[in-house]
Amino acid sequence: MHPKYVYAFEEGDGKNTQLLGGKGANLCEMTQIGLNVPPGFVITAAAGRTSGDTPSVPSGVMTEVRSHMHRLEQKVGKAFGSPTNPLLVSVRSGAAMSMPGMMDTILNLGLNHATLPGLLQQTKNERFGYDAYRRFIHLFGKVALGVPDALFDEQCEAIKRDAGVKADAGLRASHLRDLSARFLHVVQQQTGQPFPEDVYEQLAMAITAVFRSWTGTRAVAYRREFHITPTMANGTAVNVVAMVFGNMGDDCATGVGFTRNPGTGANEMYGEYLVNAQGEDVVAGLRTPKPVQEMQREMPELYRQLVALRNTLEAHYHEVQEYEYTIEQGTLYCLQTRTGKMNAVARVRTAVEMVHEGLISKEQALLRVNPSELEQLLHPCLDLQGAHPPVAQGLPASPGAASGQCVFDADRAEILGRSGVKVILVREETKPEDIHGFFAAQGILTSRGGKTSHAAVVARGMGKACVAGAEGLHIETKTRLATGDGVTLHEGDVITIDGSTGHVYLGEMPMIPPHFSDELQTLLTWADDVAGLEVLANADTPEAATQAVQYGAMGIGLCRTERMFNASDRLPLMVEMILASTTEERQQALDKLLPIQRDDFMQMFRVMSPRPVTVRLLDPPMHEFLPSAQQLLDDIAALHEYRVAVKGQTTAFQALGVSLPDDAPCEELITSVIAKKQQMLRKVQELSEVNPMLGHRGVRLGITYPAIYEMQIRAILEATARCLQDGIQVWPEIMVPQVITARELVRVKQSVEALQQHIETQYRRKLVCKFGSMIETVRACLQADTLAEVAEFFSFGTNDLTQATFSFSREDAESKFLPLYTASQLLPDNPFEVLDVEGMGTLMQMAVAKGRQTNPLLKVGICGEHGGHPASIRFCSQIGLNYVSCSAPRVPVARLAAAHATLLESR
Ligand code: PEP
Ligand code: MG
Repeated sequence: MHPKYVYAFEEGDGKNTQLLGGKGANLCEMTQIGLNVPPGFVITAAAGRTSGDTPSVPSGVMTEVRSHMHRLEQKVGKAFGSPTNPLLVSVRSGAAMSMPGMMDTILNLGLNHATLPGLLQQTKNERFGYDAYRRFIHLFGKVALGVPDALFDEQCEAIKRDAGVKADAGLRASHLRDLSARFLHVVQQQTGQPFPEDVYEQLAMAITAVFRSWTGTRAVAYRREFHITPTMANGTAVNVVAMVFGNMGDDCATGVGFTRNPGTGANEMYGEYLVNAQGEDVVAGLRTPKPVQEMQREMPELYRQLVALRNTLEAHYHEVQEYEYTIEQGTLYCLQTRTGKMNAVARVRTAVEMVHEGLISKEQALLRVNPSELEQLLHPCLDLQGAHPPVAQGLPASPGAASGQCVFDADRAEILGRSGVKVILVREETKPEDIHGFFAAQGILTSRGGKTSHAAVVARGMGKACVAGAEGLHIETKTRLATGDGVTLHEGDVITIDGSTGHVYLGEMPMIPPHFSDELQTLLTWADDVAGLEVLANADTPEAATQAVQYGAMGIGLCRTERMFNASDRLPLMVEMILASTTEERQQALDKLLPIQRDDFMQMFRVMSPRPVTVRLLDPPMHEFLPSAQQLLDDIAALHEYRVAVKGQTTAFQALGVSLPDDAPCEELITSVIAKKQQMLRKVQELSEVNPMLGHRGVRLGITYPAIYEMQIRAILEATARCLQDGIQVWPEIMVPQVITARELVRVKQSVEALQQHIETQYRRKLVCKFGSMIETVRACLQADTLAEVAEFFSFGTNDLTQATFSFSREDAESKFLPLYTASQLLPDNPFEVLDVEGMGTLMQMAVAKGRQTNPLLKVGICGEHGGHPASIRFCSQIGLNYVSCSAPRVPVARLAAAHATLLESR
């Protein structure tokens, strides 16, 4: 006995999205809560999987389908294939995860030469009947028979040209009849077969095609981009639904609505509709629809019903819904609902407001916002001060601002985008086929379509800026031009779009950093209340520290001191220190660096007070502060040539008996510069290493040049003492990089203790400073128990630990073979972005356990890039870390991810 493959809307379980798909489950649920849904049934995703790659649906499935079709005929009082009273159906895809526009749908199925007259007779509307027919042939031809879209478009354009009209709406019944005939001919020519007349054959082919669209290029690319795994959605279900028509006259309409504003989150009616149109016209952006508020005037009773529908949906689902509806001759039908795709601003606001309205709990609100989405909120917006006026205006379809070169097709956008060029995809309207262009573009601009058009919905889902329906622009893909009121945009011209206002500007506009909304602050405060992990920031300058505090960092988990040496006033001193040939010379340079470092730390401590600041002692190899050997060789060669020229000039002046001008370059000076460069070159050659990442760096430097670490330790402790003198609370922590043995730690700790004693006496203050180790070598993990006898805390440097675990050097791996490894699934992800739980995770788990064996109070955190990655944070929480530390802009993401980790673990 095979499982049941088909469920009527009255019987399907509205919670079982894995089996029925999101759309199917919701159609069942809406039917069962009494909403006016056209009758229909769902063929399960499991049925699709049994079909596999077979060319048609298994007969067992079709037997069930036939019996449900008979029940459907009874419900609507029409007959499938009847020449007098034909039942037409839509065949729609719908997987467990929403993938808008990525899979196929066929409408008006059941039309043929025999049933068409019945439809014409029933509706007494020839134009409508032929329109339905040509739409069906087109969609069926494209989806089920694989006929290229362009062949139909060509015919349509030809008919419009002959009829002297621009839009489809201008075509009369006779034109549409001719068009249907032409479409049938196209199908015959392309497939070598007549268009299928048998309605059950049509149905079986359509069901097969919709199941197949799960493995279509668009759907596969979408799942890859959004990391939709088979456990999240395994195949699509197919919904067969009785057709209702929004295009039978002026008492008909079709629309898309959101229960709240998906751009701002405001609790208001939101959406668009078109009178006398079919749903695809709204979504595809073929006609620019009207805002739903106009319906209040135009169809007041239906508007009232629509408000009631929206209220019922929200009250039932307790979640913002995106719904589609059709009004057929004065009756409102709800065709589908799903969780509304919103941008992060709206997601956060609606989640927080629904808690205040008593609809959901704080925990539900937290889990409703995906941590990675918060990055959208950190997008800049335009600085309009002194801005030139916009050159075009469209609808504000997806907030945020973006600049880039205009590109007129998705393929080119992808090529340029991948090579690092910022592009704006400019299209008349977008289609699902353009999805790869979206991924590569900074933003999207269309000249047609509304706020619920394909471009708008997809851009919002991706958090990309979008201006839709900029009707003043005439976009010609062939000539790659967009012309508007006094403006011509060529491919490659840089424009800026503002998805929050709908404005389009020429050139790259300045941007201002984003700000935290009150709702986001509230949500993140709730997150901090539940999170088990603390979130710290990686910050090396007072400016970055200030930003970290604004983003809610609870301290600094990694201050990379070497970055402090790169500023122009410090680098020469650092170079002097490196070039020193004696201990005394080195100490002199370090003495000059000490007050600078101390000031840096004082500033950082002030900004962060009273939060802890973990300072890492110098880590990178010293040659990183010097120019490259090649650069020095080039400089020296140029200086030699210059010296010859200067010498020639001096000789010429002497021959002429003229004295040299006072500011003339002098040969001796050039000679001394050459000598300095040569000295530097010798040092560079001396310091050169085969593999610097595994070479003379980290604590190895501190051991071989103890004076460097001493200077840094002194600077940290003196800064602490001075801040305390000023009444500022500071909690410094000193961290040693690249450790492999406890003996290295002991050596550095002795130095800390000696200096601390000395400074405490000097400043007459007791200092508290924690001492810890980075864990970024495999040996450190293996020796964690002995390290923890010396260290009070561990911080996993997972950037280096990933290199060490894999024996990969990051740059080589990412540029040479990792993309192939991930594409061919030898590795699930890039381990430098996503923590490798299987491999490195085992090492980490072992290090935590060993460390706490000898030091139960050991504090453990992570400060590699993974510290800002939500799934990696979840793992850190599972293995009992105390904190994560990440770059300042990722702090909000990490705060929410930390809360998710706790909430999901407690489930
Ligand atoms: C690390 O290795 O993870 C780390 C934080 O150190 P860096 O990236 O500076 O090597
Ligand atoms: Mg490191």
